Amino acid sequence: TIHIDNVSKRFGSLEVLKQTDFRIEQGEFAAIVGPSGCGKSTVLRMIAGLETPSEGEVTASGKPIQEPDPSRVLIFQEHALYPWRTVEQNVSFGLELAGMSKRERKQKTDMMLEKVGLGGFQSYYPHQLSGGMRQRASIARALVMDPEVLLLDEPFGALDAITKITMQNELLRLWEGTGKTVLLITHDIDEAIYLADTIYVMSPRPGQIVETIRTAIPRPRNRNGA
Ligand code: ATP
Ligand code: MG
Repeated sequence: TIHIDNVSKRFGSLEVLKQTDFRIEQGEFAAIVGPSGCGKSTVLRMIAGLETPSEGEVTASGKPIQEPDPSRVLIFQEHALYPWRTVEQNVSFGLELAGMSKRERKQKTDMMLEKVGLGGFQSYYPHQLSGGMRQRASIARALVMDPEVLLLDEPFGALDAITKITMQNELLRLWEGTGKTVLLITHDIDEAIYLADTIYVMSPRPGQIVETIRTAIPRPRNRNGA
């Protein structure tokens, strides 16, 4: 369980979050929606351990989050891939750090790239890809780590409708029945309703959760019936 406990955040004199309070249960798919600049990415960065609250506490399983941890993977809004690494190197880098053998790394990376529709692009560099392809590569880089908590900052923005639905369903398929926790930031309310169990609505800055919506809509299965 991730607990945002009465968190305020200021950058200098700018008050970004004000006594924000919510929790995400383990295995839950939650979404945050809210106007631009209300502090959504800031919340995500705190859960990722990249930012600390000015007041209050962010905890995972009761322990304060103080630094990044490989069990919680954040996909940045800007989709920062290493420009000097190929697609394959970008996606397999985390596995290498985790000490996985070269053969296993290659196998997992190829499988994940296939899933996001980038089979055959292993040796491309980020600048040789389209924006949506870069987006998919960075999603592959996060998913290949099989994290306990997946933090997604507007991951599907630049994708065409068909690729978007494919990736949304792939995300659901990867999530369903695994007990993993997903927190998704999106500006697309339909996407939030389609994917999330719980939607948190934030007010304009200083951000606060002003509404919690439990979506009772049965989630459609993807075409593979998986
Ligand atoms: P968007 O929907 O446009 O992505 P957001 O809700 O994700 O917006 P944040 O990125 O969390 O918004 O930023 C919230 C506010 O905090 C903004 O006004 C931004 O300028 C400010 N902010 C964020 N990070 C920093 C920082 N490191 N230093 C100073 N100000 C910051
Ligand atoms: Mg943001």
